[in-house]
Amino acid sequence: MKNIKGISLIVVTTLVSFLLWFFAAQSELVDSVDRARHVVAGLALNGFFLNFLLAARNKTLEKWFNGLDKLYVHHKFIALGTLALLFVHVVLSDQLKTTEEINIRVVTGGLAMFLLVVLIGITLFAKKMTYEKWRVTHRIMLPIYIIALIHVNLSSHIPLLQFSLLSIWVGLTALIGIMSAIYVIFFYQKSGFNYKGNVTKITRLSPNVLEWEITLTEPIKFLKGQFIFIKVFQKGFETAPHPFSISGGDGKKITLTTKISGDFTKQLYDSLELNTQVALEGLYGLMDFSHGKKKQLWVAGGIGITPFIAYLREDHPDQQIDMYYSYNGPDAGIYKEAIEEYQKRNKSFQVHFIDTSVEPFLSFEGYTLTDDTDVFMCGPEKMIKGYAAYFRKNNRNANITYEAFKLR
Ligand SMILES: Cc1cc2nc3c(=O)[nH]c(=O)nc-3n(C[C@H](O)[C@H](O)[C@H](O)COP(=O)(O)OP(=O)(O)OC[C@H]3O[C@@H](n4cnc5c(N)ncnc54)[C@H](O)[C@@H]3O)c2cc1C
Repeated sequence: MKNIKGISLIVVTTLVSFLLWFFAAQSELVDSVDRARHVVAGLALNGFFLNFLLAARNKTLEKWFNGLDKLYVHHKFIALGTLALLFVHVVLSDQLKTTEEINIRVVTGGLAMFLLVVLIGITLFAKKMTYEKWRVTHRIMLPIYIIALIHVNLSSHIPLLQFSLLSIWVGLTALIGIMSAIYVIFFYQKSGFNYKGNVTKITRLSPNVLEWEITLTEPIKFLKGQFIFIKVFQKGFETAPHPFSISGGDGKKITLTTKISGDFTKQLYDSLELNTQVALEGLYGLMDFSHGKKKQLWVAGGIGITPFIAYLREDHPDQQIDMYYSYNGPDAGIYKEAIEEYQKRNKSFQVHFIDTSVEPFLSFEGYTLTDDTDVFMCGPEKMIKGYAAYFRKNNRNANITYEAFKLR
């Protein structure tokens, strides 16, 4: 299990929070409901802290979670867990209520809860909302956290402003959480995008896929298979950074291959202009074919071909690669000729094309995955997660690295 460090981070901080709040409640509070209410609130605060930390796009944490996409899955479930804890906290607090009085403690608690419900509702149900708008709504998470901290400090029956292990822990996690949030909201966009360049070539590969070359002022040292976040400074274009795998280039020049899937990718396809300035941030991604085992199984779905094609632009005659490339319709099978050419030159590379507009979905039923094979997959989330589950069921030692083109 490659994300053991990431899971340990969640488990250890949760355990520390639980123990500190539990023992403080035991020594300071008489009523068992009041104790439980405090412990639950402490765990919720830890949930906030973890979520801000995970959202800071830290490269060490990316490795700990075995990829940014998997890190964001944990981020989502921690948010849901935190919400559940807050509901429990409200129910327990209600049992202790002796008066109907509305005071600052009630208002701050109610407000934090209400805003969090709205925010999580937007994330889970407003699927049609563009990423740009969703990202803006997500920023209210910081005020929610601050309101929650104020609420805890005002209403806790355990003194949090006096020196104790618990107060140090609460202060430290709050500080790291708030700093992470401030970095992501106010500084990441300005300080992170250090690689600058401009668009030097544009090719339309199909009715909805664009390949564009960027020439950088300073070369970027990337591993074939990695991805970056890019901002495109063209009038009328979305300003949010978008993640794309690097599909080729030597570092001084890089290519991106983008498929229309919403507003920004449509803007790129329809009206990206030569010489447009861009800024890049990265590098991310764990699809490192060069350091994988000699024997590899590759599965690409649709536009998920991009990390693989970056690697196939150069020959690797020593690596024994079995590739499955699934796409829907001839137009979607981009780079097919280039892959066929690669196969002709590299005898230990074998490709299988699956055009799902004329044949059934790719299935690995009956496929034997040996321990000496590394699996790399990239494509629609549902597809690759399904294959990953199948491989793991049939080989406990399966070493699988995959990237779903999704971060929320
Ligand atoms: C690691 C990674 C690598 C990717 N590589 C490629 C690639 O090589 N080629 C390619 O065509 N697509 C790639 N994508 C997908 C690409 O980022 C989205 O299709 C694109 O950002 C959609 O933006 P939009 O405005 O056109 O569509 P929208 O309708 O705004 O978004 C569609 C979906 O794309 C995702 N998305 C949108 N904006 C962002 C953002 N700023 N940050 C994170 N996710 C976002 C969200 O899941 C969203 O629901 C990759 C995604 C990830 C996470």
